[in-house]
Amino acid sequence: MEKRTFIKLSSAMLATPFLSPLDKWLPNEKIQNWAGNLTYSTSKLDQANSLEQAKAIIRKYPKLKVLGTRHCFNAIADSTQQFIGLPPNEQAIELDTDAKTVTVDGGLKYGQLAPFLESKGFALHNLASLPHISVAGACATATHGSGIKQGNLATAVSAMEIVTANGEVRSLSRKKDGETFRAAVVHLGALGAVTRITLDVQPTFQMRQYVYENLPTDQLKDNFDKIMGSGYSVSLFTDWLKNRINEVWVKSPVNDSKSTPEADFYGATPAKKNLHPIAEIPAENCTEQMGVPGPWYERMPHFKMGFTPSSGKELQSEYFVPRKNAVEAILAVERLREQINPHLMISEIRTIDADDFWMSPCYKQPSVALHFTWKQNWPAVQKLLPMIERELAPFNVRPHWGKLFTLAPSVLQSRYEKLADFRKLVQEYDPTGKFRNEFLAHNLFS
Ligand SMILES: Cc1cc2nc3c(=O)[nH]c(=O)nc-3n(C[C@H](O)[C@H](O)[C@H](O)COP(=O)(O)OP(=O)(O)OC[C@H]3O[C@@H](n4cnc5c(N)ncnc54)[C@H](O)[C@@H]3O)c2cc1C
Repeated sequence: MEKRTFIKLSSAMLATPFLSPLDKWLPNEKIQNWAGNLTYSTSKLDQANSLEQAKAIIRKYPKLKVLGTRHCFNAIADSTQQFIGLPPNEQAIELDTDAKTVTVDGGLKYGQLAPFLESKGFALHNLASLPHISVAGACATATHGSGIKQGNLATAVSAMEIVTANGEVRSLSRKKDGETFRAAVVHLGALGAVTRITLDVQPTFQMRQYVYENLPTDQLKDNFDKIMGSGYSVSLFTDWLKNRINEVWVKSPVNDSKSTPEADFYGATPAKKNLHPIAEIPAENCTEQMGVPGPWYERMPHFKMGFTPSSGKELQSEYFVPRKNAVEAILAVERLREQINPHLMISEIRTIDADDFWMSPCYKQPSVALHFTWKQNWPAVQKLLPMIERELAPFNVRPHWGKLFTLAPSVLQSRYEKLADFRKLVQEYDPTGKFRNEFLAHNLFS
């Protein structure tokens, strides 16, 4: 499709308020993931409205997977036999103001939790680019936002309740379960169904975001950490052309930022109006920019709840490398610009602090994530990914667990030093492989 036609279609889609296909799903209709690039291998879905129901459903079936908000682009959530759904229950949110934690059900979305926390004077430390995803599903795959000092969203988890394969309930907490907890938080859907999850909260804060245009890529060579550290959460958007970063989004607490943007931000200039990461698309679906103060949850994501995030019909891939190699990695990808650009909508570069979750791509490693939103043409993207993975191989690249990649399982497995221990834990929680689908069998166990 020509770029202009594509942008026209995308703009039309973006004018439509977001409605999850599962909201209108009928039994026996095919279930697709959010992007529509994947039709799951079964449409059998039992909804568990209580812990007792979840236990009974899990005991009943020899094989099943938990379905979250279906925002993964690969088959990590797929099942050939049966799904269990955990409907979001806003009534079950439990805020502990003394402990500064909030506990929610396995199906709740960040977009439902955030306004509740705000109304009580609290905030989360970070959010992904969109609030539409479930808390449990996001933490399962180490979903992240940006920020040199911000760990991924799973770093806020302080406790979890999991129903394992035999229908038993296990409660794990950061305080009492040490390494087992660190193994289980980023669990890739392999351990069971997370029915309750507890997150750290902090006092609410107001934020503002400024967008700068046309940052010369050369500026990254000497100033990468300064640029990425210029706000609480900073994202670079690029099409890899013209040796420039198209847009720099700088999100900061109001108390730590000025009421006017920098006139010259490392050679980039302040945007004159709200922008979409893909500049040609209108910005109505994007969170408020231009330094207008607002609550943390309406500034940290790029996209507003209630509207289609990103573009809609798309594919995504994302690769993590150590932050110390950020500039080399960016330049390595830039060398592929002629091949990448025809298939790309936009790329985003973010930073994530190290964590200690065994299966997290940021395990013990401050990281930079190089993200690609692709046009929905899998045959073309499938040819490009090995090229990108080859360029990033010297940095021991690890892919996002919920996005598209082509790394060979042996290579992927060699990048996770705690994989053998994680497999042992999976064996303990799920001895018969009830939650093990083709994705897990291929990538972790082959
Ligand atoms: C438009 C868009 C923007 C995105 N932006 C970002 C971003 O900014 N940063 C980022 O890191 N990622 C991003 N992602 C990827 C996304 O956050 C992850 O793929 C995330 O895992 C999706 O959560 P989900 O609930 O939709 O999970 P699903 O895709 O439904 O499931 C993912 C995995 O979690 C398991 N799971 C889900 N719920 C439970 C539960 N309660 N108990 C046990 N296992 C469970 C599933 O079985 C599966 O294995 C984006 C995706 C889209 C579509």
